[in-house]
Amino acid sequence: MEKQAVQRARAAFLTGRTKSLKFRTMQLKALQRMIREKEQEISDALKLDIGRSQFDMHLFEMIGIDSEIKLALEELPKWTAPHAVEKTLLTVMDQVYIRSEPLGVVLIIGAWNYPVALILQPLIGAIAAGNAAVIKPSEVSAHTATLLELLLPLYLDRELYPVVNGGVPETQELLKQRFDHIFYTGNCTVGRLVMEAASRYLTPITLELGGKSPCYIDKNCDIHVACRRITWGKFVNCGQTCIAPDYVLCESSIQHQVVEEIRLTLQEFYGEDPKLSPDYGRMINKRHFHRVMALMEGTTVAVGGESDEESRYIAPTVLVNVAPHSRVMQEEIFGPVLPLVCVQSLDEAIDFINQREKPLALYIFSEKQKVINRMIRETSSGGVTVNDVLLHFTIESLPFGGVGQSGMGSYHGKHSFDQFSHRRGCLVKSLTMEGMNNVRYPPMNADKLHKARFFMQKRVRTKNLGWTLLILLVSLLALALLIALVVVILKVHTFFY
Ligand code: NAD
Repeated sequence: MEKQAVQRARAAFLTGRTKSLKFRTMQLKALQRMIREKEQEISDALKLDIGRSQFDMHLFEMIGIDSEIKLALEELPKWTAPHAVEKTLLTVMDQVYIRSEPLGVVLIIGAWNYPVALILQPLIGAIAAGNAAVIKPSEVSAHTATLLELLLPLYLDRELYPVVNGGVPETQELLKQRFDHIFYTGNCTVGRLVMEAASRYLTPITLELGGKSPCYIDKNCDIHVACRRITWGKFVNCGQTCIAPDYVLCESSIQHQVVEEIRLTLQEFYGEDPKLSPDYGRMINKRHFHRVMALMEGTTVAVGGESDEESRYIAPTVLVNVAPHSRVMQEEIFGPVLPLVCVQSLDEAIDFINQREKPLALYIFSEKQKVINRMIRETSSGGVTVNDVLLHFTIESLPFGGVGQSGMGSYHGKHSFDQFSHRRGCLVKSLTMEGMNNVRYPPMNADKLHKARFFMQKRVRTKNLGWTLLILLVSLLALALLIALVVVILKVHTFFY
């Protein structure tokens, strides 16, 4: 079943129909129609899978998908056009350009926490770049997976974009097949398996992984506003967001204020009992419920801590004075638990971050530009947002992805198009001007080598080349006019005298 889907997708890709701009545009418009016409069905599936409210569905999945499609539709002619680049003097009369070409058949493996966006956003890039795509939604968000399997063939080319549903055996079977790119979102352990499988055919991969994203609160900042923003980003989707602030680093002098601000914000956002709030989610399943509960063992709870196994509810929880070596600080939390770790200075915070794996996101709250600059300059992370959380994800012009253990490759907007394209370097020469080539032909001598170095190293900017030619043309015209004028004056002079 998995093998056949890949074979059918490859056969369809080889017909060449994905190459035309018209076809890609048609598919993207169909996808846009799908998310608009089937909004209710999608909302119902998300509710069943992860208890997502219809407002959060728009805020965290649909707005992003819709604007990615709009951007691709607007920009596709520009993205697919050959892109002229700088030449050398040796190739000044030739065409030198980059052509973005589809890679072929790509595999997209999604995770459960944003099960629509994590499939459709990469799919938009894959379609825009002219690929066929085999789609593997997460089996953990089963309702959404079934819905995607039902809906996508109703709107998109059935052969080119098959959905394969199933669990670990099915995904592993898929990974045995040959692809031209694998785009995986999920945890590091499976990321390694994907990389291993990809090595068999030297398949390039994008790994969108997770990790512990730190959030540094400087004492020189509006702690009230900082805590509102952190509370939103941490507890949305019950903390199951790959770029949620995983833990807070702050000086002990502000820890109490941070706790109190978060407590007040939680009351404002979710009321006295978050369990009753329609805006507060649940853990995806019992396994993740127990995993997160175990992380809290031996810690000091300052806010929350309540839970209900039956409904997979864990209250928004803040832990204080958390020791760096405690269990909750050893793995990505991926749940509604926020540890506060005290540091004595900015230097200590920077060291703390640098001693750990490079995170997917880094958050800095400070009013001091010097602090912000140092944090950005002296650490590394997939992305960074200053004085807010999550929002760098929403800007399509920023590449979204990890670094080191938090992933490789990136996407969103044009970056998705590039991720699923081969940027082919093209040089088109003519068979004239053979004399120019003598500098590289044997028999060689020092003089030829000297000239070759000059011609091969002298860079000519394509933009400047246009201007140079224009100036040359205008100068020639001016000269011709001058000569004509002189001739006329001479003739007039001869006529009269
Ligand atoms: P998951 O359980 O849904 O797994 C992801 C995919 O891997 C699924 O499609 C599943 O079928 C497949 N899979 C699982 N086990 C496998 C195996 N043994 N062999 C082959 N395939 C297998 O999702 P998850 O891993 O629990 O997702 C949570 C993690 O993903 C977190 O670490 C989170 O930070 C990260 N994440 C990252 C991003 C991002 O954009 N960087 C987004 C969402 C989640």
